[in-house]
Amino acid sequence: MASLSLKNIYKVYPNGFEAVKDFNLEVEDKEFIIFVGPSGCGKSTTLRMIAGLEDISSGELKIDGKVVNDVEPKDRDIAMVFQNYALYPHMTVFDNMAFGLKLRKVPKDEIRKKVEDAARILDLEKLLDRKPKALSGGQRQRVAMGRAIVRNPKVFLMDEPLSNLDAKLRVQMRSEIASLHNRLGATIIYVTHDQTEAMTLGTRIVVLKDGVVQQVDSPQKLYNEP
Ligand code: ADP
Ligand code: ADP
Repeated sequence: MASLSLKNIYKVYPNGFEAVKDFNLEVEDKEFIIFVGPSGCGKSTTLRMIAGLEDISSGELKIDGKVVNDVEPKDRDIAMVFQNYALYPHMTVFDNMAFGLKLRKVPKDEIRKKVEDAARILDLEKLLDRKPKALSGGQRQRVAMGRAIVRNPKVFLMDEPLSNLDAKLRVQMRSEIASLHNRLGATIIYVTHDQTEAMTLGTRIVVLKDGVVQQVDSPQKLYNEP
């Protein structure tokens, strides 16, 4: 339920390094955009700017037509899923998933319902009282997803969410993410190094190099060219 517009976006870090140069992209509602490119090309920086975790040096970022450059991360209606999960080790699965809602002062009953609904979708119902260390890698990844989906955000940003999983789990989670995308009708921007993930999940692929967009195309066009 969200479109995104990035116009002439630049990122210059305080040390003077230009990590992103003139990034332009129009993302339509429900698209699944993939960012690919070598390490250090500016994928995470771009995601972090969209999330509001990093200032935009110049350019304009819009969500649903509204400029959000100066909007706080928590007010952007965006959820981010990281490769290292970033779960709180001392909290249960329930509390990890509830955390962002508590922060936003959502009523307790509503929190319980949202967490239980997400747990059902992600097959975490029986694990809500466990601590992260008592979970498998795939289960932890699902909790990280759960923490994002309980907020029902307009936009999901995922930074190599599957790269720490073994091959078998990666395949399983890949299809779970695909069905989540359909089910939630969400707009997703997803960073990966994995060509199969890019091909099976993406509606469009953005190829980055040295902070510059090289190409934007459908997976079919990008990977099946002679
Ligand atoms: P990617 O996600 O594609 O691997 P990043 O967006 O993390 O790339 O980084 C892009 C470039 O910006 C890299 O060269 C990185 O070293 C640099 N960079 C990242 N964070 C900072 C920072 N805080 N200060 C200076 N340079 C940074
Ligand atoms: P939200 O749903 O608002 O993103 P999160 O629970 O993901 O809430 O995180 C809230 C803040 O705490 C974010 O700034 C996030 O980066 C930080 N955070 C999340 N997990 C950890 C962790 N394990 N250790 C330290 N900081 C964390």
